[in-house]
Amino acid sequence: MPGDAPFDLAELHERAVGRHIVVVGAGIGGLVAALEVAKLGIRVTVLDAAERPGGAIRSAEVAGLALDLGAESFATRGGHVERILGELELSGEVVDPGTGAGGAWISGLPGVGAAPIPTGGVLGIPGNPFADDVRRVIGWRGAWRAYLDRIRPVLTIGHTRSLGDLVAGRMGRRVLDRLVAPVTTGVYSSSPAHIDPDLAAPGLNAAITRAGSLQGAVLALAAERRSAPGGAVRGIRGGMGRLVDALVAAIEGRGGEVRTAAPTIGLERTDDGSWRVLLAGDDVDPIDADGVIVATEEGAARGLLAEHADALDADPPAPGPVVTVVTLVVACPALDAKPRGTGVLTVPGSHRAKALTHSTAKWGWVAEQADPGVHALRVSFGSADEGPATDGMSDAEAAGLALDEASAMLGVSLSRERLRGHRVERFAQSQPAATIGQAEATRAARAAVRGVPRVGVVGAWLSGTGLAQVVPDAVSEADRVRREVLFDPEH
Ligand SMILES: Cc1cc2nc3c(=O)[nH]c(=O)nc-3n(C[C@H](O)[C@H](O)[C@H](O)COP(=O)(O)OP(=O)(O)OC[C@H]3O[C@@H](n4cnc5c(N)ncnc54)[C@H](O)[C@@H]3O)c2cc1C
Repeated sequence: MPGDAPFDLAELHERAVGRHIVVVGAGIGGLVAALEVAKLGIRVTVLDAAERPGGAIRSAEVAGLALDLGAESFATRGGHVERILGELELSGEVVDPGTGAGGAWISGLPGVGAAPIPTGGVLGIPGNPFADDVRRVIGWRGAWRAYLDRIRPVLTIGHTRSLGDLVAGRMGRRVLDRLVAPVTTGVYSSSPAHIDPDLAAPGLNAAITRAGSLQGAVLALAAERRSAPGGAVRGIRGGMGRLVDALVAAIEGRGGEVRTAAPTIGLERTDDGSWRVLLAGDDVDPIDADGVIVATEEGAARGLLAEHADALDADPPAPGPVVTVVTLVVACPALDAKPRGTGVLTVPGSHRAKALTHSTAKWGWVAEQADPGVHALRVSFGSADEGPATDGMSDAEAAGLALDEASAMLGVSLSRERLRGHRVERFAQSQPAATIGQAEATRAARAAVRGVPRVGVVGAWLSGTGLAQVVPDAVSEADRVRREVLFDPEH
């Protein structure tokens, strides 16, 4: 089926007999790619360095509650994740966040403390700086400074490359520090200075030229988003780990294998043009394959592929942010009132934690499991600019710090006696795709990999952060590699 020519399924299955593809990395990208490959009857082996599959998706019990410890939701944009959930017969388990708690809050506001995140903005940038909820955060002074954006001329030549420069220049430091920085730090683990507005808010720069101001552009973009389907996030009852379990079961059901605690340390090209996948450990046999899909974080992917595609070695990226999430289960009836809605983002520098999710306020399926007055909280630490404050701490110490931070962010007293259970998880992430320069770097990486026969590469570092981005990209890259494996005339 070279190109898009129609193909005969029976012929494809015949060609697939005896073919084998190895997928390195069992995060969502690797598992989705593996299932796609297995659907045509190609044998697939997925290898992951960790003790369990799922990568940044991790679900487990803490103090008797089933909880998400990593990714907790997916964006409905494009319908890609829901399509996979449908295939895996999990559609009936998809849930919306609760509406009773309101939205999230921002904490660490000078002179204010905490306030709800204003509605109707884009990346925290307000459409109307004089709206009550915006003024509560930035004050009159901030609102008047932001208003200057409306009367200043717009530079229509070229785009501003840094979200930080764009917002500070047009609307001032208060909007930048109090509204935008908490959002980019919470979403991208990165300061606005490093974020490319063209990637984080596609259409914003063009809308500025059309509308004549940043505020006008935000109003136009926010209206477009409200009318576009799929602006929401959804979750899975019982945790996102159920998606991982179902993917593993589907791969195994098609004769594939998912091996954990199996770090890949090298990829070798054999004389007949096949691939040999080298695993860590003296007595661990290498695995031969017709094709390979690398589905790890950026650093590991470049390390494995650089030998075969020089361009991947040329400009090694800065290491991505490390994030630690401390999940706490606490007995605290004062939290029944959901004092900070679904959670809290922080003004950088104001707290040692960067964000908190009040899981029992956000998700009905989490609240249903908890005894009265018992709550689940997720406190996250670390960003691109700063390692997690929990680094070097024992889990018990990290839980203690998370309790103190949660007390400050939620405005309640969470003493050690209130703690029913805790869990500390560390995540090494790739540079967010919205980081300045990252798009060029990943475009070059993709092009370099395309030049290596029967090798593909997937994952958030290429597609962008989040399941809604990783999943469709993994499907199309798996399709490209399986075509090559089935139709490569030289193989
Ligand atoms: C705390 C947190 C919360 C998040 N929340 C959300 C959310 O709510 N919604 C959302 O859409 N997104 C969320 N994200 C982002 C989302 O989880 C990721 O974008 C996505 O899961 C990345 O998938 P991936 O397959 O690219 O990589 P990963 O999940 O990182 O998987 C890569 C895998 O490769 C393995 N690996 C690495 N090196 C090797 C090697 N040498 N050999 C073998 N295996 C190797 C790793 O062990 C890992 O399992 C969150 C991320 C984090 C960290």
